Amino acid sequence: MDQKQTINFGAGPAKLPQTVLIQAQKELLSYGSTGISVLEMSHRSSDFNKIINRTESLLRELLNIPDNYKVMFLQGGGSGQFSAVPLNLIGLKGDRCADYLVTGTWSAKAAKEAEKYGKVNIVHPKLDSYTRIPDPSSWTLNPSASYVYYCCNETVHGVEYNFTPDTNGVVLVSDMSSNFLSRPVDVSKFGLIFAGAQKNVGCAGVTVVIVREDLLGQALKECPIVLDYKVQADSNSLYNTPPCFSIYIMGLVLEWIKNNGGSAAMERLNKQKSSMIYDIISASNGFYACPVEDACRSRMNVPFRIGKKEGDEALEKLFLDGALKRGMISLKGHRSVGGIRASLYNAVTVEDTEALAAYMREFLKEHQ
Ligand code: PLP
Repeated sequence: MDQKQTINFGAGPAKLPQTVLIQAQKELLSYGSTGISVLEMSHRSSDFNKIINRTESLLRELLNIPDNYKVMFLQGGGSGQFSAVPLNLIGLKGDRCADYLVTGTWSAKAAKEAEKYGKVNIVHPKLDSYTRIPDPSSWTLNPSASYVYYCCNETVHGVEYNFTPDTNGVVLVSDMSSNFLSRPVDVSKFGLIFAGAQKNVGCAGVTVVIVREDLLGQALKECPIVLDYKVQADSNSLYNTPPCFSIYIMGLVLEWIKNNGGSAAMERLNKQKSSMIYDIISASNGFYACPVEDACRSRMNVPFRIGKKEGDEALEKLFLDGALKRGMISLKGHRSVGGIRASLYNAVTVEDTEALAAYMREFLKEHQ
């Protein structure tokens, strides 16, 4: 049972498991028998070496990462990877072009950034709203693209892929920032996966990059050295000072995921939690409205409007005020879309979700 009264439904940085916070608090002044905090520890010390190696081996175990993949812990966030991906990979083939699927804010930003370094082909007709994933039969993939890029879960719009795109052998790259380790993934289908930690696997400051070895060493010559995957992989993410504390916290979260049944157990819980909210939306006769098509509704970020399809802002404000009184915070939708968004990452419990579900039922009864 959580000691905290507040339930954080934020989209990230997001809720962390309480046991992780307690352990970090316990170890804050002195890590093990070192007499110093991880915050004060040299990244070249043997103690930190153990922390980073343990974090990597937990990740390898939880995702079953094949041996021919490197794992890196980098700075610069998901946004840093919007640049690093093309800087490292767009030159894999002579044409310097890449295919992008644009299904929300984050993949749109990534595609825009990639345009600085080569030719970007959006493989499907432009979407007038980010509420669906265009049918793969409508995609025009370019066989001479260096890679195909997609965002597995669009955090702002609540659009999630429940399938892995088939690229006819072209290197597949995925931004999994907001659904990383929320379900099992077959890493061998990807050339590269990246994820900021601050949603499902830790706190802000570190971004995981998992990359197939044969893709290293082909960065454009203008690639900044800190973004060069080969340099970072060869130095075990220690080319420069890494985000030590964030890596340590990620290790604790991965340990927690392992102790709670791994990625398959996370998937079961995430299905259960998101269904609790979507079921209320579906049964509300339009009082609650989720604009996203059923097949690609996110299990991580559930966006919805209240009162009518396009949202009754006064009613939505009332909902948020009432939620706050009940200790439920950060339910406001992203400023670009409005409405409500409940983020149900791994650390958000079934009980937390039940509290929100109960409030939604009560609010419906009162205002329908
Ligand atoms: N990709 C996705 C799916 C995100 O949700 C976010 C941020 O929320 C980003 C990328 C950008 O991450 P950062 O703010 O760490 O650069």
